[in-house]
Amino acid sequence: MISDIDLKHLRRCVELAKLALEKGDEPFGSVLVSANGEVLAEDHNHVAGGDHTQHPEFALARWAAENMTPEDRGNATVYTSGEHCPMCAAAHGWVGLGRIVYASSTEQLAQWLSELGVTPSRVRNLPIQDVIRDTQVDGPVPELAEQVRQLHRRFYAGKR
Ligand SMILES: [Zn+2]
Repeated sequence: MISDIDLKHLRRCVELAKLALEKGDEPFGSVLVSANGEVLAEDHNHVAGGDHTQHPEFALARWAAENMTPEDRGNATVYTSGEHCPMCAAAHGWVGLGRIVYASSTEQLAQWLSELGVTPSRVRNLPIQDVIRDTQVDGPVPELAEQVRQLHRRFYAGKR
């Protein structure tokens, strides 16, 4: 179930993805929200420098491990423009974060990149639930997913 509050945070993720794109990076953005609705941290992709582990969900997992109690982590939600990759899903699980809400799925991204003729990465496209268990996961959200799709189209159009 996606609430209006969820939509507000997801829209911020899409804004962060757009910001990444404007900085020449891949369009992904994520927000970490506490149980009482406070935005604790946000980030976007930083892979343009060549380190392809610099995903926002991974950064937020590390931020949570450093700054939150295990209980608070378990009650926090991570919102993200695109479903966690296996690396980020594992990080989410290792630090004990709670619910995940995404605007667009990995399956959608794989389809879009295929349509754009982008060579798939070596990392497999696994759904979050195939990487970590006991995690509430919600998404995708069609109208926001379309916005994310347009950001990816712009990113790869700029590469040609
Ligand atoms: Zn990732």
